[in-house]
Amino acid sequence: MNALIDKFSRQVRYVRISVTDRCDFRCVYCMSEDMTFLPRAQVLTLEELHQIARAFTELGVEKIRLTGGEPLVRQGIGKLVNDIGQLPGLKDFAMTTNGAGLRKHADSLYQGGMSRLNISLDSLDRDRFRRLTRTGDLDKVIDGIHAAQDAGFERIKLNAVILKGRNEDEIVDLVEFARRERVDISFIEEMPLGDVSDHSRGETFYSSDDVQAAIESRFPLMPSPESTLGPSRYFRMSDSDSRVGFISPHSHNFCSTCNRVRVTVEGRLLLCLGNEHSVDLRETLRRYPGELEPLKAQIIAAMDLKPERHHFTTDGDVQVVRFMNMTGG
Ligand code: SF4
Repeated sequence: MNALIDKFSRQVRYVRISVTDRCDFRCVYCMSEDMTFLPRAQVLTLEELHQIARAFTELGVEKIRLTGGEPLVRQGIGKLVNDIGQLPGLKDFAMTTNGAGLRKHADSLYQGGMSRLNISLDSLDRDRFRRLTRTGDLDKVIDGIHAAQDAGFERIKLNAVILKGRNEDEIVDLVEFARRERVDISFIEEMPLGDVSDHSRGETFYSSDDVQAAIESRFPLMPSPESTLGPSRYFRMSDSDSRVGFISPHSHNFCSTCNRVRVTVEGRLLLCLGNEHSVDLRETLRRYPGELEPLKAQIIAAMDLKPERHHFTTDGDVQVVRFMNMTGG
């Protein structure tokens, strides 16, 4: 029974839980060059993160995605995945990662019950990859994709953020790479979270429609009804297993069917990525250690706070002060 219904009669079936705000990359659309990270005391423990996951599954949530920052830099991530992976009622257990830590962790994630991986990949050019991530090693990420395949992951999806003047010339190459590796790929429109220092979003915005046109100049796309409970609109190609998805918060708003909420690593239950409406779960967790009922009651009550939609614009103004690393998308 799903108890999580908001004022717009939308059912929350999916929670994205950030397990760290830290990352070994500094992607230009996610963080500014010099970041300050949360002190340990403010960060939820692994047990608290597990309790939150348990509370949501007991309230009817079917899908959990672990995010960051970069979830694989969190100490004890293997144990947390193993504990969450055993929760009754969990139908879909996923992670969004930059892939650099997958050679080390892919087996334990898969053994722990994780079923799906999203791996960020914005360029196939080593130098450009380094510039877009500020610190990333492309070879490590590609090796990470192979480690995930070796571990048994069948549903792997690449996530690519296209920035005008930065990587739009690689759109078809990225699709060809996905076809070769037999993985899916989603193209994401950049979202105005945090005052990133690297570029003006008004200048780099590249719409999903332009991405689709570029792809269709090489690969005809057929709309597909498939869904992963996420915001991607999927398309198929007649000669490949790979799906192509578009996450288009600006050009194809998807808020009317929103089914998700987020929890930051400091225990803020964020009702919407594009707004600051939130409640503090950490205070409840630490006031009633080990008790689920107060936490569940707080989560149910918070549904009334869930906003109808985001108000993002593409003019480059920062609409949400918090950086993307607080939620991982
Ligand atoms: S912006 Fe907010 S309302 Fe819209 S889909 Fe995302 S979380 Fe839901």
